This record gives sequence, structure tokens and C-alpha cells, in this order.
Amino acid sequence: MNMLIDSHCHLQFPQFQGDRAQVLERAWQAGLSTIVVVGTDADSSQQALALAEGHPNIFATVGWHPHQAAQFDDRGRLTLRRLAESPKAMALGEIGLDFYRRLSPPEEQRAVFQQMLDMAGELGLPVVIHSRAAEEEAFAILSGWAAQVKEQWPQERPLGVVHCFGGDLALALRYVQLGFLISIPGSVTYPNADRLTSVVAGLPLERLLVETDAPYLTPQSMRGRRNEPSFLVETVGRIAEIRAQTIREVAEQTSANAAALYGIAQAGGSGPAEKKEAL
Ligand SMILES: [Zn+2]
Repeated sequence: MNMLIDSHCHLQFPQFQGDRAQVLERAWQAGLSTIVVVGTDADSSQQALALAEGHPNIFATVGWHPHQAAQFDDRGRLTLRRLAESPKAMALGEIGLDFYRRLSPPEEQRAVFQQMLDMAGELGLPVVIHSRAAEEEAFAILSGWAAQVKEQWPQERPLGVVHCFGGDLALALRYVQLGFLISIPGSVTYPNADRLTSVVAGLPLERLLVETDAPYLTPQSMRGRRNEPSFLVETVGRIAEIRAQTIREVAEQTSANAAALYGIAQAGGSGPAEKKEAL
């Protein structure tokens, strides 16, 4: 198949320290064409970028996760700003709000989120959003940001993606209306995934991405093990089943969506915008 894009994983994390090369080999074997490695603070963004710079089919995002908001400082901001200039840094993220685990105080999460959005607007980069137990507030903040950047944004290009989407179909549709994509993780394969199933069924395929969020959210048949990009195939299979479409259709369209969001030229495809065209 060779056209699947894992739009969000953390291959730079220590869980992959011992066998990263084999994990990548299994991903290409399983039919993935491209992997996007997502940063969560200065160090992990640097490491994501290092992986991307070492491989033509790996791309990175740089960002500061709300869990780490309390550790954010000027040095972190300047480091991310510098990393974001790399031609392999395709988006700002993951960034957002997490009031579920509250590993950082909400006030600090909001402040970091806003600074990251400002940086994305300044650089013309799309954003990768993490939002948990903060759905309405995150949406309100992103609506404000969208209004600010919309005028300078290329018309067809998504503003960002809400990763591991946890809301309901009504919220997903509002995000789509705003110009965002919705990313579906392996939890759609779990037996109790009713809400996510209705999101998958109810959105146009043109607005969906697929992701592993590896090493987290391992699909049902492998649950309990570390997740990895090759397991994305199971998630795509389930999405195809829910939508009564072929695996090939889901793989092709979600890959085209991811390529358009991140500004990645697809192998054999017509190749969308260069990253800097967003400016
Ligand atoms: Zn993640």
C-alpha cells in the first residue's frame, strides 16, 4: 500500500531507545510512507527534529505540552523558536490544555498555550492541539486565534489538527467549520468507543487524520503492549469498517489530508505547498 501517514507519534521517547531502527523498519513494511514525530518540550522537540533530519520520510513538530507548562521559561521559548525554523519542523505542537491530569496549573497552561499560538501565527505554521477536559475553553481560544490568522492563511490549508480527539461529533463539526482537522487514534478500536465511532462516521473523510500517539493508545488487539507506528493499520481498518469504505480509500485520503496540513510533498503525488508558502 505504502501511503499511510502516522500523523502523530513520539518515536523520540525513551520507550524506543533500544529498538528504534526495527520499529521504523516494521512501519515501512506495514505500508507507512511517512511518520510525524511530535515534540512536547524543548528537549523532546529537539530529539524529534534530529530524527526527522536523519530520515527523508520522517517529519517533526515542535511544541510545549500543557503537562509541562510549569517548566516553560524564556529559554524554552527561544529554543522552540529556533527549532521551528528548521525545514523539517512542520507544525507547532503539541500544545493545548489538559485539565484532566492537571500536571501544571491551569493558569500556566493557558499562558503557554497562548504564547505557542502566537509563535505559530508569526511563523505561519499549523498547530497540533492536545485538549482534555478543557474542550470548550480550548475551542474558544482557538476560535480567537483562527480569527487573527485567517486572513493571511492559504485558503485550502487547515489551521491545525485536534489530536486524539476526545469530544463529541457536535464539537468535531465546529472544529471542522473553524478550519481544523480531527485526528483519530487507536482507541477507536476499543469496545467502548461509541463517541469516537460517531465522530468517525459523522465527519467527511477529507477532515480526518489517523495517528498512533505511540508509545500510547495501543489498538485493541495489541492492548497492554507499547504502541508503534506499524499498528496504525489496525486503526485504519476499523475506520474503514465504521465508514463502510475500503482501507485503501481511508489510507489515501487521510494521507492526503496529513500532507496538506503539514506541507509534506507526497511520494508520487502532485506535492502540495512548501512549508514556507504559508507565509
Ligand atoms: Zn501525543
